[in-house]
Amino acid sequence: MINSLPMTAIPAEAEALRAPVRAFLAQALKEVPLEKRIRSWMGFDADFSRALGARGWLGLSLPPQYGGAGRNPFFRLVVVEELLAAGAPVGAHWIADRQSGPLIAKYGSDEQKRLYLPGICRGELFFCIGMSEPNAGSDLASVRTRAVKTDAGWRLNGSKIWTTNAYRSHYMIALVRTSGAPEDRQRGLSQVLIDLHLPGVTIRPIRDLAGDEHFCEVAFQDVDLADNALIGQEGGGWEQVTAELVFERSGPERIYSSVVLLDAWIDYLRSTGRLDPASTGTLGRLAGNMAVLRAMSISVTGQICAGASPAVEAALVKDLGTELEQLIPTMIADALGAQPDAALPAPLLRALAFVTQVAPSFSLRGGTREILRSMIARGLGLR
Ligand SMILES: Cc1cc2nc3c(=O)[nH]c(=O)nc-3n(C[C@H](O)[C@H](O)[C@H](O)COP(=O)(O)OP(=O)(O)OC[C@H]3O[C@@H](n4cnc5c(N)ncnc54)[C@H](O)[C@@H]3O)c2cc1C
Repeated sequence: MINSLPMTAIPAEAEALRAPVRAFLAQALKEVPLEKRIRSWMGFDADFSRALGARGWLGLSLPPQYGGAGRNPFFRLVVVEELLAAGAPVGAHWIADRQSGPLIAKYGSDEQKRLYLPGICRGELFFCIGMSEPNAGSDLASVRTRAVKTDAGWRLNGSKIWTTNAYRSHYMIALVRTSGAPEDRQRGLSQVLIDLHLPGVTIRPIRDLAGDEHFCEVAFQDVDLADNALIGQEGGGWEQVTAELVFERSGPERIYSSVVLLDAWIDYLRSTGRLDPASTGTLGRLAGNMAVLRAMSISVTGQICAGASPAVEAALVKDLGTELEQLIPTMIADALGAQPDAALPAPLLRALAFVTQVAPSFSLRGGTREILRSMIARGLGLR
């Protein structure tokens, strides 16, 4: 049925989810100020995540026997669009819902699915991503954290960095070396699931430019993991992490990081009762870019529904999407700056200052612009 749909259409049954989600958010966030809503990705609210889980809006594509809804990815697209447009605090469940759950569903054992997926769907289990290390970011194949086989399971030593919300998460899924040496690159890598409360795990939050603490440094010193900590195949970590990155990059998230600011600026323009030609031009350009990117994001979701793994297409949407996310604060600042005598609302200015400070990170998290462009060039046969 999906195959017979136009590539840029959200199926009606998924679209039907939009109204109840929007109504719930209007109620749940009605007292939340702009300064909090602007932090949406970084907003961490376990009660809010549980409320989404209770309504069946997490783990939408996970199998029903493990607590999911067994729906196609368009359902999650609709929910994510509404969450980000409203500036909902998605940080607690974000990673588990987007990639850890789907990864466990794809590669995990039946025991792992039973242990973790129901809690993810209820919005009760929070995960973080253990890929980057102090000397392995873009060059992920050079990770040095090592898990050595023991009689009881695995002994883990090493460290991860920039791990979003590690100090507030229950588990990390980490890419580690289980055999060979760093020179072996992709060979000998595996993924392990780490309970972050085990002895030997030390987590240090890192304060960012805006004063927030979300990403962390995580050290492992002789951490003993059980046998069932290994996800999928030993040595299959590279293929698995590549699939995980498609989950990470293929959603609609990478277009909307600045959308709450855009909305706040539009509200301000409305409140002035006039629309000058320069602001009209800015609005038209941003809305036009967003409409095209949204259509491309929907199309990527259509490809996933059709059984493809559109890594290059997802990289293209992420690269162009983060460019738009970064353009929004710049263009709004220019538009406001062009009217130096206007009395501007303080919350709008604070929101603009915040997005301007964090915007450079939009094209770093999830893979940098240069890395995505080299993937796109390779996909097009240009290198
Ligand atoms: C807000 C935020 C949240 C994050 N959350 C997580 C997380 O939860 N888990 C996690 O594992 N990581 C996370 N990261 C880390 C992120 O994935 C890395 O920062 C990113 O992959 C880049 O790695 P690096 O910082 O080591 O930079 P480097 O790899 O050292 O790159 C430095 C610069 O060199 C460029 N460069 C590197 N190699 C090449 C090349 N071959 N060709 C051309 N240019 C190149 C890069 O594009 C970049 O501009 C997060 C980062 C941010 C900003």
